[in-house]
Amino acid sequence: MSDFIPVNEPLLAGNEKKYLLECIETGWISSEGPFIKEFEQKFAARVGRKHGIAVTNGTAALDAAVDALGLGKGDEVIMPTFTIISCITQIVRCGAIPVLVDSDPLTWNMDVTQIEAKITSRTKAIMVVHIYGLPVDMVPVLDIAQRYGLKIIEDAAEMHGQTYRGKPCGSFGDISTFSFYPNKHITTGEGGMIVTDNDELAETCRSLRNLCFQPQKRFVHERLGWNLRMTNMQAALGLAQLEQLDKFVDRKREMGERYTALLHGLPGVQLPLAHTDYADNIYWIYGLILDDAIGFDAEEAMKRLASKGIGSRPFFYPMHKQPVLKRMGLFDGEHYPVAERLALQGFYIPSGLALTGEQMERVVEQVIETLAK
Ligand SMILES: *Cc1c(COP(=O)(O)O)cnc(C)c1O
Repeated sequence: MSDFIPVNEPLLAGNEKKYLLECIETGWISSEGPFIKEFEQKFAARVGRKHGIAVTNGTAALDAAVDALGLGKGDEVIMPTFTIISCITQIVRCGAIPVLVDSDPLTWNMDVTQIEAKITSRTKAIMVVHIYGLPVDMVPVLDIAQRYGLKIIEDAAEMHGQTYRGKPCGSFGDISTFSFYPNKHITTGEGGMIVTDNDELAETCRSLRNLCFQPQKRFVHERLGWNLRMTNMQAALGLAQLEQLDKFVDRKREMGERYTALLHGLPGVQLPLAHTDYADNIYWIYGLILDDAIGFDAEEAMKRLASKGIGSRPFFYPMHKQPVLKRMGLFDGEHYPVAERLALQGFYIPSGLALTGEQMERVVEQVIETLAK
């Protein structure tokens, strides 16, 4: 067997090394260094927002966003069941109630037509999560949020460089968040960003990030925060990566289109949608959904691919099926058939920026061989 093809490898071929060296040479390695502000400003500008608050990871960004909005006991937040656990943890921990909607079978994003029926007098916010490369259909969500006076938290962790009807993803939430984990379009190793236009929310997030130290009485606290500070070294990486974002998005699109061209027509498998009427896919990852008729599930397909040297990852496991949440008494008897099917039959193949054309051909060959049987 030739070399294993991992599911993701980042590309660090720009100014990453130069900026990192600068951190070491100047001694600015903590969260006080100059790259942080520069990265925050340039990233926020890129998504058309007034404020950027760099944090330790995308999960932390969501935690702070939920807390900054003042959500608490008994407040209801409508969100997709098909997402990562990061979206729900702070909602549950603060005593708020996650209210779920199912997914659209083609875009895999939250089915926005299910939102309105879930609204009650306790609903405070909608958390939208753009999944795998296509944005959530935002116009209906914005309309509902406005009519019912709801806040929007926008998880744009997978959407750097993506737009919805020409407007950047990350510009739609009262608070929006990003991740810079190495499998995202741009990476800082670990890292995240909160963006908002609201001065007060931005100030709250900055305070929450820094343990809610007070400017005047540093060690006297009026609120509980976290230490979510990003280091200058992470911001150095982020800045270098941000310079290459357009190139990265072009490359991801090229890769997605290539995969689709090579896999198109393969029986028994559903490929990602290339376009909707509001966006072109940026293929954060390249997902496949097996037809039930194929006779085995995603887990089995991934096992077979691994034995042929091809890395892959399962799709998200829905929130309403999470053992830890079920044990808390959440989502009892609830079913979301589309999300359940995505979790059972969906997985993704190597999609990282460092993937070569040759590797892609090997991946496709093995996928075809695996699924054709
Ligand atoms: C990656 C991701 C996160 C979490 O980001 P981390 O930086 O890994 O904590 C949150 N939401 C979505 C949709 C993600 O893809």
